[in-house]
Amino acid sequence: MAYDKTWAINWLNQFCDQINENKQLLSDLDQAIGDGDHGFNMARGATELKKVLAEKEPDSLKDVFKTAGMTLVSKVGGAAGPLYGTAFLSISKAIEGDTISPEDLAKVIEAGQEGIEKRGKSHAGEKTMLDVWEPVVNSLHQDELSDDVVEAALQKTKDIKATKGRASYLGERSIGHLDPGAYSSALLFHTMLETEVD
Ligand code: ADP
Ligand code: MG
Repeated sequence: MAYDKTWAINWLNQFCDQINENKQLLSDLDQAIGDGDHGFNMARGATELKKVLAEKEPDSLKDVFKTAGMTLVSKVGGAAGPLYGTAFLSISKAIEGDTISPEDLAKVIEAGQEGIEKRGKSHAGEKTMLDVWEPVVNSLHQDELSDDVVEAALQKTKDIKATKGRASYLGERSIGHLDPGAYSSALLFHTMLETEVD
């Protein structure tokens, strides 16, 4: 079993479909604790990424994530565009060959998490997408990632007080709401788990 270029393209296409399907929900979540644009921002990038992947298949597994990163950086506004863009570019840089072994998947996704942390000057516990990325990476290292892990991480963002991003302006009032970026990242990892691996 190895994660190859076809897997990556299928995964990203499924992620983009899920972003588009949940566009309104993601923006509604952002409306509650931010400015209400997260779904619309992400959907613009998702639509463009699908188009780019369909027009010309990237040459390598590494290139699939580079294409995703560059597309999201250029098409998605707000905080999330550069953060997801950096995550995918960091993932691309961490890939060495034509495939990722199951043992290496955790390291590769962790590179994405570190990219977000550097770019966002943030870490888990601040009610952001990192509150999904970090538990996902930890579970991958233990070979225990499941939809339940992803869902539990997402739900936990409800209890956290935002200290990064726009939601931090609300302080205590951010408690009780799901973080929109954590929600889109949950879609990323649910679709990763769903994507067939050869
Ligand atoms: P904006 O906040 O500029 O309107 P979006 O609405 O597209 O951008 O994205 C908001 C999401 O971005 C938040 O829900 C949060 O998950 C994530 N986010 C914001 N700032 C940071 C940061 N510094 N580090 C990690 N994630 C962040
Ligand atoms: Mg927003």
